[in-house]
Amino acid sequence: MSDFERFKELQKQMKAYQLALSVASWDSNTEAPKASFPYRSEMLGLISGEHFSLQTSEEYRRIVDELDRNPDELNDIQKKEIKEAKKNLDKIVKIPKKDYIEFTQLVNLSQKEWETAKEKSDFSIFQPYLKKIIEMRKRMLGYRAPDTHPYDVLLDDFEEGMDREQYDAFFQTVKDELVPFTKKVLKRREDPPAFMNARYDRDEQKAFVEYLMGVFGFDFDKGLLKESVHPFTWGTHSKDVRFTVRYLEDYLFSSIFAAIHELGHALYEQQIDEMFDMTNLNGGASKGIHESQSRFYENMIGRSRAFWEAHLPALKQRFGKQLKDVDVETFYRAVNHVDESFIRVEADELTYPLHILLRYEIERDIFEDRVSVDELPDLWNRKMKEYLNIDVERDSDGILQDVHWSTGMFGYFPTYALGSAYAAQIYYTIRKEIDFDRLIREDNLQEINDWLREKIHCFGSSIGPGEILERVTGESFNPSYYVRYLKEKYGELFLGGESE
Ligand SMILES: [Zn+2]
Repeated sequence: MSDFERFKELQKQMKAYQLALSVASWDSNTEAPKASFPYRSEMLGLISGEHFSLQTSEEYRRIVDELDRNPDELNDIQKKEIKEAKKNLDKIVKIPKKDYIEFTQLVNLSQKEWETAKEKSDFSIFQPYLKKIIEMRKRMLGYRAPDTHPYDVLLDDFEEGMDREQYDAFFQTVKDELVPFTKKVLKRREDPPAFMNARYDRDEQKAFVEYLMGVFGFDFDKGLLKESVHPFTWGTHSKDVRFTVRYLEDYLFSSIFAAIHELGHALYEQQIDEMFDMTNLNGGASKGIHESQSRFYENMIGRSRAFWEAHLPALKQRFGKQLKDVDVETFYRAVNHVDESFIRVEADELTYPLHILLRYEIERDIFEDRVSVDELPDLWNRKMKEYLNIDVERDSDGILQDVHWSTGMFGYFPTYALGSAYAAQIYYTIRKEIDFDRLIREDNLQEINDWLREKIHCFGSSIGPGEILERVTGESFNPSYYVRYLKEKYGELFLGGESE
């Protein structure tokens, strides 16, 4: 048996463990009864341990190293599989076991402390844990890549090829162009129309979400829909892709747009070529590209005028009373309602990148040792005032709102904004190649799905984010499309066509 054949055998065994762990985690996040968790976590801990041993076994390491040094016999896809395996291996094996265990324990504890701190809106409870997490994160990155700046390592982990230089340029554009523009729009914002907060029966909402799954061409033989508090998409390979939404009876848009967003992630996964199912290249190209697809479906399609010209009648069939006098234009303005908010996950399309700008600048300052942990709440609140012109009064609405830092996840936030910016660049390309608005208006999304499958989805992660963007749009990442998209859309909506 060749080294590569043995590599594939070991990968298959790991996939089997991953399947068991993933299915259990889907169950934990949707239906598992509360009382089952202690037993589950003990059993799942054993499976994780087996998985970890296999991943770090001497034989597997030897084979990956060998193939990584001598890749000549391999084809391009196989080379990429090895590169991916080597990268994942380096993340694990270069860190001393002692540190690894200490960090896992610290993170488990921190999440609990963060929850308490958030509940009590008291940063001082979380502060010592955050400090320790940052220290450990820096130390562990030092083992992995002693010659690279730790924050650059993290940025590249979440989005291959990205570093501070590129993100600085991106967020500077956001700051220069979108902060003043957003302030202008916010000055002219309208009160939300009353129907936005009327009562909408949850079963009817569910029926409409199922209708949307049909509209978007979700393959029901390869996936399913459930409910959970935080909507998410889950998958093990292209033939098993599931997602969740939640239904709020006093806020109809929550289920509709969470569903379309998750459908974007799910369609991506379903459209990956099945040849990648049994490889480590089976997911999307990167976090940023994945998010670009969910944002593309949610915002460029789901929040467009053309989409509601096609589908407002179906919604009215279910909610005739609440939407009786609502025409397409009114509905279109409502789904693009802009308002300043403290909370990132509730932010609209226009103010969203400003929330990410703030987090990026703070994370960069942390890793460049330019701010101490004690100063973070003040720094957060000052930036909130500067970018969104609002005063944060409670830490739970400010520095404590997101779970990410308590899990040690730094460098992840920027990909959220990057995804929207990629989506805008792709949007201007697709409009040149197909009759985008007409297809949406005529309820023919298949042609759009096909375009995205052919250009982006089918490759899985066999091609990196930079190369995908270059191939699809003919140029490397260019944030000016994002600025142009937001200014055109919101200038027309709220500034009478003025976009400067
Ligand atoms: Zn998403």
